[in-house]
Amino acid sequence: MKFLLLFFIFMVFAWQWRHAREDKVKNAMRKKRAAAGVVAMVPCAHCGVHLPAGDAIQGSRALYCSTAHRQAQEP
Ligand SMILES: [Zn+2]
Repeated sequence: MKFLLLFFIFMVFAWQWRHAREDKVKNAMRKKRAAAGVVAMVPCAHCGVHLPAGDAIQGSRALYCSTAHRQAQEP
């Protein structure tokens, strides 16, 4: 009977540990998705196409989608 009680207590702790671990993984994945999902979009000053701010080419006056458009706008 004593072993059955110990086994039951062990199973409760194991279940709680597993449940806490799953929550931790889910929260990490949710944060990762939220960080990856929110991307600032900026328009190209030449053609007006919107692109992620990280991919934009920085000109002296504005942002552009490509070096060709930057050169066309800022000779
Ligand atoms: Zn452009």
